[in-house]
Formats: sequence, structure tokens, C-alpha cells
Amino acid sequence: MTQPPVPRIQLNDGTSIPQLGFGVFKVDPKQTERIVTDALEVGYRHLDTARIYGNEEGVGRALAASGIPREQLFVTTKLWNDDQGTQSVFDAFDRSLDRLGLEYLDLYLIHWPTPRNDRYVETWKAFERLRESGRVRSIGVSNFLAHHLERLLDETDVVPAVDQIELHPYHQQPETAAFAEEHAIAIEAWGPLGQGKYPLFELPAVTGPAEVHGKTPAQVVIRWHLQLGNVVIPKSATPSRIRENFEVFDFELSPLDMTEVGGLERGFRTGSHHDNVA
Ligand code: NAD
Repeated sequence: MTQPPVPRIQLNDGTSIPQLGFGVFKVDPKQTERIVTDALEVGYRHLDTARIYGNEEGVGRALAASGIPREQLFVTTKLWNDDQGTQSVFDAFDRSLDRLGLEYLDLYLIHWPTPRNDRYVETWKAFERLRESGRVRSIGVSNFLAHHLERLLDETDVVPAVDQIELHPYHQQPETAAFAEEHAIAIEAWGPLGQGKYPLFELPAVTGPAEVHGKTPAQVVIRWHLQLGNVVIPKSATPSRIRENFEVFDFELSPLDMTEVGGLERGFRTGSHHDNVA
């Protein structure tokens, strides 16, 4: 079946990002090239990796082997916590780009604010210089709460283009999402399916619309993100699910469906609290 093209979300720096991407957290480095190749064949053009995932090389090999023109791809990677600073940022960026085999990156993110180290403002100033160099088109952050974003806005010149945060029906982060919207910072949802840790796919709010539309619960949850305006980067290592997670542009949830999925908020996080990751 031919899929409609993936919509793009305008970013506050004049660039744009495909609204659906493919995340590779916990994708085994030895299998990454094959799995990313599958995703590219399905039609994904937006890939989300990180230094700490240890699989940037596999992503890079798949991109190179695909023959897809660079301008059709959107590649994100992230600076790990122990590389925060100034020169350490430039060095880490060079190494990531090398592992990915790319001349430039589409989006570079500070992975966590790690406020106890108090280096994210300095790190962001280094990100600003990287962007000026032209070797990264957009810069953003990840796991920043409203008060971390506020500090960047107060103390630096460039507003992050995106904040990639844990966001799924059980954990919707309304305060951070509202702050981001107010400042034109796009929200990217990580763990968009709750990492499969919660029984989201068995709840009537999700299974009901799935039955009506002849779709799967995972597709309903991805659709919910898309209709909220989130950028969404589900992960799977299973070919049928990689395809399933991409086939989400041929149906629409009703306003009532959206409200019911939104009503699943439980404040459940899959991971650590943002202020505690060192
Ligand atoms: P996710 O919510 O995408 O869940 C992935 C899991 O959901 C899979 O391992 C599988 O168990 C299940 N799943 C996927 N597709 C399914 C389907 N169609 N049907 C049934 N089950 C399905 O979680 P994630 O991988 O943590 O998040 C997505 C991406 O976000 C990551 O791969 C990574 O790129 C990014 N991420 C970023 C951070 C961060 O700190 N910035 C943290 C975690 C993840």
C-alpha cells in the first residue's frame, strides 16, 4: 500500500522535521544496520540515535548503503552527559559525525540537563557555535523540564528548536508541553508507546478506536501523538511492527477518541526523574 508522505513540522529556526521518525534506543549495535535498513525500506527518513546507544555506526552504515540522497534524510543524535562543557562538546560532536559517516547533522540534542553538574548552559553555548559552523542544522535539548528551558531562554541567545521528552498517554507532561508551545519549541515524544511497559494496548480508550478503524492499538497511540502535533519516534526491532508503526496516515481519530486517550494520564514515567540523572 502506498503511504501518504510524512508531514513535516516547522521548527523555530526555519528548518522542518518529519513528524514521524524511527528511534533506535536499545537496538543492538550488531543488528542496527539491518534494522535501520528495514525502516528506510518501509519509508522512514528520520532517524533518532544517541552516542550512548552505541549504535551510531550501524545507523551510518545503513544510511550509506541505502543510496538515499542526504537531503531526503533527517538524522538526530545526542550529546551524552559526560561530554557536557565546551571543547568536550566539539570533540563529541566530531566523533558522532564520524561514526555516522555524515558531513552534517540535522539535529543535535543535549541528552539530559543533569542540573547537578550545572553545565547545561555552557553546553548550550557550545551548541550555538556548532550551529553557526553549519555542521548541524538545528539544535535542541532532551529531557529538559520547563524550568531548565526557562534558564536557557534567560541566559543564552538561541531558543532550542525541540525538546525531546518522555511523552505517552500515561505521562503527558502538560507543564513542559505548554511552556514549549508558548516558545515555539517543538515537542518530540520519546517512549511514545510507553516502551511497552504499561498495558496501554489493552485499554478500551485505545482498543475501541483501533477496532473502529481496523488499526492496531499501537497505531492508535501513534496517531494520537500526530494529531496532538508531537514529533513521534517509535522504536521496534520487528519488521512487521516497523511497518505497522509507519502506516498511520490513512485514518483519523475523532475528537472524542483524542479526549479518551488523553484521559489516560497517570503521571507514570518509564525512567528517572529529570533532575536526578547525573
Ligand atoms: P517506545 O515507546 O517506542 O517503545 C518501544 C517498544 O514498544 C518496543 O521495544 C516494543 O516492545 C513495543 N512496540 C513497538 N512497536 C509496537 C507495536 N507496533 N505493537 C506492539 N508493541 C510495539 O520506546 P523507546 O524506544 O524508549 O522510545 C522511542 C525512541 O525515543 C527511542 O528508540 C529513542 O530513539 C528515543 N528515546 C529517547 C530518550 C531520551 O532520553 N531522549 C529516552 C528513550 C528513548
